[in-house]
Amino acid sequence: MKPFGYVVAPDPAAAVAIVTTRPGAAFLGGGTNLVDLMKLGVVVPDVLVDVTGLLPDRIERTAKRDGEAGEGLRIGAGVRNSDLAADPQVRAEFPVLAQAVLAGASGQLRNMATVGGNLLQRTRCLYFQDVTKPCNKRTPGSGCPARAGDHRNLAVLGGSLHCVATHPSDMAVALAVLDAVVHVEGAAGPRVIPLSGLYRLPGDEPDRETTLERGDLITAVEVPARQYARNSAYRKVRDRASYAFGVASVAAALDVAGGVVQDVRLALGAVAPVPWRARVAEQVLAGRPATAEWFGRAADAELAAAAPLRDNAFKVTLARNIVVRMLCVLAGVPAGDTA
Ligand SMILES: Cc1cc2nc3c(=O)[nH]c(=O)nc-3n(C[C@H](O)[C@H](O)[C@H](O)COP(=O)(O)OP(=O)(O)OC[C@H]3O[C@@H](n4cnc5c(N)ncnc54)[C@H](O)[C@@H]3O)c2cc1C
Ligand code: SF4
Repeated sequence: MKPFGYVVAPDPAAAVAIVTTRPGAAFLGGGTNLVDLMKLGVVVPDVLVDVTGLLPDRIERTAKRDGEAGEGLRIGAGVRNSDLAADPQVRAEFPVLAQAVLAGASGQLRNMATVGGNLLQRTRCLYFQDVTKPCNKRTPGSGCPARAGDHRNLAVLGGSLHCVATHPSDMAVALAVLDAVVHVEGAAGPRVIPLSGLYRLPGDEPDRETTLERGDLITAVEVPARQYARNSAYRKVRDRASYAFGVASVAAALDVAGGVVQDVRLALGAVAPVPWRARVAEQVLAGRPATAEWFGRAADAELAAAAPLRDNAFKVTLARNIVVRMLCVLAGVPAGDTA
């Protein structure tokens, strides 16, 4: 591994100033992704700015706002994944979030991993992690061997000719469903970005994965308390039962009254370069009967945009099935033979 320096800045503004002005500097969270990539030579920072002691590491309640069902949450970016998943309020009021975090990595990794680092972890595309191979995301313009090569686990939605990598975070899929916003400290001061606006589709610039500027530090994530949040869940399909990235996953939150969908939020994981908010499906379901038939129609409408490659068309069927099953569970209706 290339030698590197280690710095502990006195406060977030100083950390931002270092990373903004020094091209070889990078923030260090739990290091569970960054240090792996450094060992592989995929990223080669010359100084790591440790932010774990600077960032809030608590989960706080936010005041109830108009239209909200109760108090929301403000989750410090330094909160460890284990602490987030174990928090009694998160488990009771935002179950999709606790379940998604627990579905990721291992106990040891979750003890180290931070909320900020989790959101900015890099893709698990094999070519991206192998510096002997071309990869447009790692070396712009070098090509995308995954399209003709090993893409079984890559994107069926939102990919481009230049990149079909999937976003790896489970937590981000749950936060997409919960309409979370991300607090960022940048060179020009603090700002707030909806989670749905944090990630970019690859287009012809797959190396630009987020809308963040160099030196932007994630300081917290805020989750509003909507009616549907309590009736929410996460389901992840993977090649082995634990300690594996998803093949396809779904985060869903559903509010049903009198058998009719009042409100629904859906997002798919491991099938797109970003946490994929299924807005088409949500629109199909608004005001419709909460039945397996309608859930299937909604999933089909969303997945009509899928463009699978040679070896990953199975993900489209898989995504449809887990969406229908998940919504049936949340609605308390039988799945029948529609999934
Ligand atoms: C074997 C293994 C299996 C895994 N399985 C899963 C899985 O199934 N699901 C899943 O979701 N994840 C999985 N992970 C990934 C794991 O969740 C991430 O490595 C972890 O969440 C990253 O958090 P961190 O704090 O260690 O980030 P770091 O590795 O420290 O940082 C990651 C990136 O974020 C940047 N960064 C860190 N903090 C901030 C901040 N506050 N603001 C701005 N930039 C920041 C860093 O510069 C770096 O670029 C797995 C990891 C391993 C090693
Ligand atoms: S899919 Fe993206 S990350 Fe994977 S090789 Fe192609 S450009 Fe690189």
